[in-house]
Amino acid sequence: MQCLFCKVDNDKVINSRTSVDGLSIKRRRECLGCGRRFTTYERIEESPLRVVKKDGTRESFDRKKILNGFLKACEKRPVSTDTLENIVNEIEREIYNKFDREVTASFIGSLVMQKLKILDAVAYVRFASVYREFKDISEFIDELKPLMTGEKKKKKDGGTDSRSISLQH
Ligand SMILES: [Zn+2]
Repeated sequence: MQCLFCKVDNDKVINSRTSVDGLSIKRRRECLGCGRRFTTYERIEESPLRVVKKDGTRESFDRKKILNGFLKACEKRPVSTDTLENIVNEIEREIYNKFDREVTASFIGSLVMQKLKILDAVAYVRFASVYREFKDISEFIDELKPLMTGEKKKKKDGGTDSRSISLQH
């Protein structure tokens, strides 16, 4: 590996660690030129899976897009980036298990929804309102109801605060 700092291509690996999901290996390296340390990640080479969008167009599968969707939905929510990374790994694995050439964007969307529903109600609602393109507001409220009652129950038991969910209609 070429050193990030001095560009010398000579380093030793200090340690290697396989990620929890077994999909990647993290290596800590030390440059033998300048002595500085850096980290590299190795991932399994992925087959070129494509995503079929609603209008029939295709684009190559990109986990970063999924992660960005999560980051956006979970902005200012108490959810760590590590948690999101793990969820994206789960989704990625599920997709690669089920499909080998093409996967529909709506399938990915529904996986994201499932995960968000368990993870964080506010993030779920944010994502759902954009993704589902609800035909009318009553449909949206129907979707929210089970979440709201779930939150209320938790609150009664001294659980989480649901003030940040507000229906403005
Ligand atoms: Zn160096």
